[in-house]
Amino acid sequence: MSGLNFSNYRRLVVKVGSSLLVDDFGELNRTWLDKLANDVADLSNDGHEVLIVSSGAIAIGGLVLGINKQRAKLPDLQAAAAAGQVQLVHAYQEALDRHGITVAQILLTPDDTEDRRRFLNARRTLGKLIALSVVPVINENDTVATEEIRYGDNDRLAARVAQLVMADALILLSDVDGLYTTDPRSNSDAKHILEVAVINDDILSMAGESRSEVGTGGMATKVQAAGIATHAGCITIIASGVIDSPLRALKDGGRCTIFNASDTPAAARKQWIAGVLDVSGELSLDDGAIGALRDGSSLLPVGVIAVAGDFSRGDVVTLKALSGKVVGRGLAEYSSDEASRLSGVQSDQIENVLGYRGRSVMVHRDELVLFNND
Ligand code: GLU
Repeated sequence: MSGLNFSNYRRLVVKVGSSLLVDDFGELNRTWLDKLANDVADLSNDGHEVLIVSSGAIAIGGLVLGINKQRAKLPDLQAAAAAGQVQLVHAYQEALDRHGITVAQILLTPDDTEDRRRFLNARRTLGKLIALSVVPVINENDTVATEEIRYGDNDRLAARVAQLVMADALILLSDVDGLYTTDPRSNSDAKHILEVAVINDDILSMAGESRSEVGTGGMATKVQAAGIATHAGCITIIASGVIDSPLRALKDGGRCTIFNASDTPAAARKQWIAGVLDVSGELSLDDGAIGALRDGSSLLPVGVIAVAGDFSRGDVVTLKALSGKVVGRGLAEYSSDEASRLSGVQSDQIENVLGYRGRSVMVHRDELVLFNND
């Protein structure tokens, strides 16, 4: 079988499950991690941008603090996560440092990806780290996450991260090499599925409830994650991580299941913005600003003539010409209050007006959609 063509995927999110990295006793598998680091270094040398979502904090911390996972209560798990996360990210730093790669730790809670304002903040930070060629190592902020407010499993977290950074591909490394018609561990007739065009009820029922011992995710959560990511234009791959150099293996033709996305991440994002029902305000723009937007630039405060409505940072606003014609929509980088104060202001004067540094754009070019109405 020919291998996965990575050249189509510039930005990759790789999810590493606990069971790959940590054994039943909570001991970290450094040899495996070193091989993964080789793969990541090869990919970044080839011009890919790699983000890692890694589980393992609770499993490692359980060993460090002598907590028995079976009998642990929520505060025990949170304490284990706090102690284990340090060791986890340190292990990544050590492994990638050998290749001259810097690692940055990011801990997220669902609010960071679900709330639009925080979504924009997290996106900018991750964007900056990627631009600096840093490899973000991301986990759920387990020390503050409780049952009601958690992603639940890192498959879902990884899908949200993929959506956040508009990744081209999400690779879920697992203890199975993809989706089967039934659970291959209990059914020898199970057939491997190579490609999934649409996630329908058949696919969901194939995923069933299969679970692995160490992590919290099973095939069902992986397929749900694939649903989130593919909807955001990000192709999703479930592949085996129970081998050395799992990403290289994929390149060399290793078995996996590919969930196709019908759009590119940018097109899916624009479609989402175009489809949002809840539009909270309006920005009226001068003709120069509209011309700049049509040339692919972001909207600067200086191009805004008037602000209407009551909106927060991250809300969708309508973009209008002075004639009143609607030219597009975008996510406001400022609240209506701040936007009013900033309209007509040069970007280098933003700090003088607001009293803090702020952002140079009113609507970022990745967060706007223009209507073809000229
Ligand atoms: N965030 C958890 C940890 O690092 C793992 C969650 C999961 O495996 O899905 O231990």
